[in-house]
Amino acid sequence: MSAVVPPRDVVVVGASLAGLRAATALREAGFTGRLTIVGAERHAPYDRPPLSKQFLTAAEAPADPLLPLPDGLRARWLLGRAAVRLDPYRRIVTLADGTRLPYGGLVIATGAAARSGVVDDEPGPDQGVFTLRGRDDAMALRAALTPGRRLLVVGAGFLGGEVAAAGRALGLDVTLVAAGAVPLERAVGREVGAFVGMLHREAGIDLRTGTTVAAFGTGADGGLKGARLADGRLLAADVAVLALGAAPATGWLAGSGIEAVDGVPTDSRLRALFPDGTTVPGVVAAGDAARVPQPLAGGAATALGHWAAAAEQGAAAARTLLLGEGAPVFAEVPSFWSDFHGVRLRSVGLPALGDLVKVHECDRDARRLEVSYHLDGRLVGALTIGRTSRLAAYRRALAERTSG
Ligand SMILES: Cc1cc2nc3c(=O)[nH]c(=O)nc-3n(C[C@H](O)[C@H](O)[C@H](O)COP(=O)(O)OP(=O)(O)OC[C@H]3O[C@@H](n4cnc5c(N)ncnc54)[C@H](O)[C@@H]3O)c2cc1C
Repeated sequence: MSAVVPPRDVVVVGASLAGLRAATALREAGFTGRLTIVGAERHAPYDRPPLSKQFLTAAEAPADPLLPLPDGLRARWLLGRAAVRLDPYRRIVTLADGTRLPYGGLVIATGAAARSGVVDDEPGPDQGVFTLRGRDDAMALRAALTPGRRLLVVGAGFLGGEVAAAGRALGLDVTLVAAGAVPLERAVGREVGAFVGMLHREAGIDLRTGTTVAAFGTGADGGLKGARLADGRLLAADVAVLALGAAPATGWLAGSGIEAVDGVPTDSRLRALFPDGTTVPGVVAAGDAARVPQPLAGGAATALGHWAAAAEQGAAAARTLLLGEGAPVFAEVPSFWSDFHGVRLRSVGLPALGDLVKVHECDRDARRLEVSYHLDGRLVGALTIGRTSRLAAYRRALAERTSG
């Protein structure tokens, strides 16, 4: 096997969690070459999880939840500048302003963007209909969430649940619309979804299940007045949030030869792949933009959309740039958390894979839940509410499988 020649210059596209972790890991591993970090947002790297939680509910205007920058990063920052093209044969990234950045190694860490477009002629933030992905979205939404207003949240996944909970905490009337029979059914199953639905209702949220929004209505001033649901019912609302998931932000790779359907496909060392399965020379991908093989799913590649995956994949992708085949295979056990109504939900593994859910504890009064997920009789995930300490044992059992 020929020796790996580490790149002399690395470009990281995406100045957020995965990109920063990749940059940090490169320096920690002794990379001394030129490091350029490109970010479409003008903000220094910040953390997204607080944006749907305390950032919305804090009484005082919150500080930006900046990610700590390590000493000695020695990076050239190109912020407020989006990459628009990749030529993987000449190894050049082109920015919107025409700047061309040659690279020896490239980290694709462009994350994801909020999905919208539930209805035709969808109103936007100026009319009171928001999506939530970045710090600017959160600032605008925060200003609109004033007590006494009526908030409609479309989509009862984790983000929708957190925003609905924040709305209640701020004293708004909140309606939460879920497409399934219970919130989160596809992600974590009916048992957990029913439990979470109960928590929402106990908090005073008007949870509507099995329906979605068919049309928004605006008044003469252009502001939101309400929505018509697919089942015909009308809802009055002053503010709406579309919480319909996120799509990998990979449009800038069009024409590069990389087919980023649901994320940039990678091998088990985070190397980006062409459609024929060959690796894209010098290119790795990490975080919400990447579709990485999951050992628990028999190697099927998935974009997880989880904070921990973005952080771990960013660091692992950097090691691959430096070590190539000598870098360890990426086999971290996925994990996720969500906070709402004063409880913390945590999961490990891939609950959505399970064909059997075992409920080990379900105490509605104490707001405690512990379940495990199994596929073909084998553990694939676990989830707790108010029982975080129980997850360590599940994580160990799953790690034995993923490293084996
Ligand atoms: C509101 C919110 C709450 C969340 N809460 C939780 C939680 O409680 N628990 C949890 O596990 N996960 C949570 N997540 C998910 C977690 O934050 C993400 O998984 C994580 O941010 C992914 O990191 P990333 O670096 O891959 O992508 P991102 O954080 O999306 O960053 C990608 C960066 O790339 C930039 N970019 C995009 N396109 C380009 C381009 N063409 N050129 C240059 N730059 C570009 C973007 O502007 C962005 O700054 C939450 C996410 C959101 C939005």
